[in-house]
Amino acid sequence: MNDSAGQQPIVAIIGGGYGGINLAKALDEHVAVTLVEPREAFVHNIAALRAVVRPEFLPRMFLPYGHLLAHGRVMRDRAVRVDGYSVELASGMQLRPRILVLATGSTYPFPAKSDTDNTADAVDEYRAAHDNLARANTVLLLGAGAVGLEFAGEIAAAWPDKKIVLVDQAEHILPGPYDQRLRDEVNRQLRDLGVEQVMGSPLTRLPDVPAGQTNRFSVITAAGTTIDADIWFRCYGIAPQTGYLAGDLLAARTAEGYLEVTPELNVVGFENVYALGDIAVIDANKAGIAGRQAKIVAANIRAQLAGSAERTIYSPAPPVIILPLGPTGGSGQLPGGEIAGPEQISRIKGQDMMITRYAEILNIPS
Ligand SMILES: Cc1cc2nc3c(=O)[nH]c(=O)nc-3n(C[C@H](O)[C@H](O)[C@H](O)COP(=O)(O)OP(=O)(O)OC[C@H]3O[C@@H](n4cnc5c(N)ncnc54)[C@H](O)[C@@H]3O)c2cc1C
Repeated sequence: MNDSAGQQPIVAIIGGGYGGINLAKALDEHVAVTLVEPREAFVHNIAALRAVVRPEFLPRMFLPYGHLLAHGRVMRDRAVRVDGYSVELASGMQLRPRILVLATGSTYPFPAKSDTDNTADAVDEYRAAHDNLARANTVLLLGAGAVGLEFAGEIAAAWPDKKIVLVDQAEHILPGPYDQRLRDEVNRQLRDLGVEQVMGSPLTRLPDVPAGQTNRFSVITAAGTTIDADIWFRCYGIAPQTGYLAGDLLAARTAEGYLEVTPELNVVGFENVYALGDIAVIDANKAGIAGRQAKIVAANIRAQLAGSAERTIYSPAPPVIILPLGPTGGSGQLPGGEIAGPEQISRIKGQDMMITRYAEILNIPS
């Protein structure tokens, strides 16, 4: 698969997250695929916040890649320099595929995502966060978007006696194109769970203890509210992972680090390079969207390799969110615009955090 071997993959997919695994699986029967991923196992980060409060979820949050492909291969490596034609890997190898797909996703502060490639180290990190959280009486969560709200719900469900304070400079929870009825329902459930909100004013400075450590501290908002807590977590700060882009590809990178793509999901200006998932500027930041985009990219690559001019167009999805607040609570906005109640959310996500679904995609026996 490298220059010296003289053999190159037809399709190289960089990044084995939600987009990468769906695409690799969809193409595996049809074309020689190489999936490049530095992690030892697929990280099902949808379950991450549950795994912090319930460490028994941890073994099923890290799903091995070994059964994913029957024909193609998964290379444990990292792309360090990618232009429109070739991929330089951290190992020093070079790939020159006919078609290149970028699916390197995003980072998010721990525990929503972990930046550890080794599974045992990541598991230790989550266990330590659990132990620290278990010892804290008051928890401060900075950010009242989906991650902060979901984490508040998880902590409240697991430890009903802990005091939880959500702080955000925004006036209202859950920014984004969602129906106000959803915010109202989430607020109602958060009140029932006893979660406090301090909204509409930023902290004057971050806590002087590291995030995720148990140590009493005091912070103050610009509006003058003092909050004393024992542990805090940062629940904001998603960032696309595109630092490896080089050469002509840089022209398609936005100021925020996303990639401009066409409706066919080609990187703008490159008919042999595609991008999907959290790095694509079109409709980013949902695993479900990355999965839908993988289907479009698979169809377009197959058509392209067959010499057909036919292409499938990606149409952005309506706003959808599934927001559990613990195993039996939560709300969400469904594709038709309906607001889902706790029972429905629990069935869709809250009970098993979609682990079964992704274990099936990775062909892992239950
Ligand atoms: C706590 C939490 C809960 C969520 N819940 C939901 C949910 O319920 N439903 C939903 O639809 N979405 C949810 N999301 C969003 C979802 O996780 C992301 O949208 C999703 O991860 C995007 O998938 P992706 O394939 O684009 O990228 P990622 O899943 O981020 O995967 C990218 C992969 O690329 C690899 N990579 C990075 N750089 C390189 C490189 N240079 N070379 C090779 N490989 C590289 C990474 O190791 C990683 O495995 C949630 C997010 C969080 C944080």
